Amino acid sequence: MEQSDQRAKESKDLKECGDLIQEIEAAAAGLRGRLRAGVALDAITWFRVGGPAQALFSPADEADLARFLKALPSEVPVTVIGLGSNLLVRDGGIPGVVIRLGRGFAGIEPQGGGRIRAGAAVPDQRLAAAAAEAEIAGLAFYRGIPGGIGGALRMNAGAHGGETAEVLCEVRVLDREGRAHVLRVEELGYGYRHCSAPPDFIFTEALFEGVPGERTRILEEMAAVTTYRETHQPIRERTGGSTFKNPDGESAWRLIDRAGCRGLVVGGAKVSEHHCNFLINTGSATAEDLERLGETVRARVAAREGVELEWEIRRLGVPLPGRPMGPALALAMDGEPP
Ligand SMILES: Cc1cc2nc3c(=O)[nH]c(=O)nc-3n(C[C@H](O)[C@H](O)[C@H](O)COP(=O)(O)OP(=O)(O)OC[C@H]3O[C@@H](n4cnc5c(N)ncnc54)[C@H](O)[C@@H]3O)c2cc1C
Repeated sequence: MEQSDQRAKESKDLKECGDLIQEIEAAAAGLRGRLRAGVALDAITWFRVGGPAQALFSPADEADLARFLKALPSEVPVTVIGLGSNLLVRDGGIPGVVIRLGRGFAGIEPQGGGRIRAGAAVPDQRLAAAAAEAEIAGLAFYRGIPGGIGGALRMNAGAHGGETAEVLCEVRVLDREGRAHVLRVEELGYGYRHCSAPPDFIFTEALFEGVPGERTRILEEMAAVTTYRETHQPIRERTGGSTFKNPDGESAWRLIDRAGCRGLVVGGAKVSEHHCNFLINTGSATAEDLERLGETVRARVAAREGVELEWEIRRLGVPLPGRPMGPALALAMDGEPP
């Protein structure tokens, strides 16, 4: 199918949200979670842009999610989102079902022996605080990351010299058919901001292990993380954090700066002056503005620095009908090719 026909079909599918809901409800009677059609996602992502989910399911707990996945027709695409701090949802929305874990996945429990168990919907910052309370050191870096545990497991989130894979023992996941698996960290193929677990695995819970520490020392470390964030990053802006991964031995921000992209503007989107690996929605940006800005930065860095930057931010969903996406969005600047 041509790309434009595919988009037209996806956009038509988005208008048929009610039909999808009816189909799912018929297949999975007795769900305890909340299933809604055509839910706006802009309000729940940090960038505050993007179209709706064709359907949004918030499961009551893991058993409810398993039941839902088992009953869901296999052709319906499933996308899981966390706290939306690493996401760019395109303007045409996300076809199929979007799953967002909530209260039923928000448990947090120290286990003794420096271990702590957390549900996938626990915010990273709450894990850091609970670990400090339980005198478990090594998880203070989570104080600075505004996502949730599910997103941290998928992204191998890290900062200040620590990363998820280093403090993780095992995870619990559901596969697309709703079967539960427990996987050890070695089985997840972690690398820098990368996890090799199958893309349709949904993390539901994780067991972390730190080392014994003193509460006051850990709290001091967390306070230092907070101070660093406040002075070095535009944390109060509508942003998705670091846009591109750091290439081997280089900093993405330095390459972006050298390519002359600091402060670059496309529509309502801007490269942060404060930290130029952050893109910002200045108020009126669309997802297309932000993606176009990112692709323009990539093209300029490739042309001027000879480096292909890789997106760290996850771009999800489809553009508005007839609109381009991906590298085709890059803008020529000053009459020259990008
Ligand atoms: C101001 C700011 C600062 C940031 N600083 C850092 C930093 O220092 N270090 C860092 O690593 N990141 C940083 N980030 C990026 C982001 O916070 C992390 O990537 C975070 O781990 C994403 O978690 P989330 O819950 O927001 O996930 P989302 O953004 O909602 O999703 C991210 C990815 O995880 C997947 N996902 C989410 N939940 C699940 C689940 N339960 N099962 C399977 N997949 C799931 C989604 O499908 C998506 O692919 C920053 C972001 C911002 C806005």
